[in-house]
Amino acid sequence: MSDCLFCKIRDGAIPAKKLFEDDRAVAFRDINPQAPTHILVIPRKHIASLDEATAEDEALIGHMHLVAQKLARDEGLSKGWRAVFNTGKEAGQTVFHIHLHLLGGRPLGWPPG
Ligand code: AMP
Ligand code: ZN
Repeated sequence: MSDCLFCKIRDGAIPAKKLFEDDRAVAFRDINPQAPTHILVIPRKHIASLDEATAEDEALIGHMHLVAQKLARDEGLSKGWRAVFNTGKEAGQTVFHIHLHLLGGRPLGWPPG
C-alpha cells in the first residue's frame, strides 16, 4: 500500500526507532507512548486490521506475539505486559495496517477504556 504510514516505516521512508526486524515483522517504538514501554509490532505484509486477516495469516499473527514476547524480555518487563490489537474505529484504531501494541512498565488497569 503506497499511502500507508506503517508501510512507509517498514520501508524506511519515514523514520522510526526500530528495535526488531526479520523477514516477516518489524517493531518500533510508538511515537506517543502510553506506558514506559510502548512498542508496535507490525507484519511486513499490509493487512488493514485483525478484521481483515484470513487463515493464510494465522502463523504471521502468532509470530507477531512471539516477537512481542522477545521484546518484552529485552525490555525487562518481568512483572507483566499487555498485547493489544485495536480493531476498527470504535476500538480506537487510527492506523489501518495491523499492529500489536506491546505495553508495560507500569500497572495496567482493567478494564481498558
Ligand atoms: P492505533 O490507534 O491502535 O491504530 O495505534 C496507532 C499507533 O501508532 C498510535 O499509538 C500512535 O501513537 C502510533 N503512531 C502514529 N504515528 C506514528 C509514527 N510515525 N511512529 C510511531 N508510532 C506512530
Ligand atoms: Zn501498510
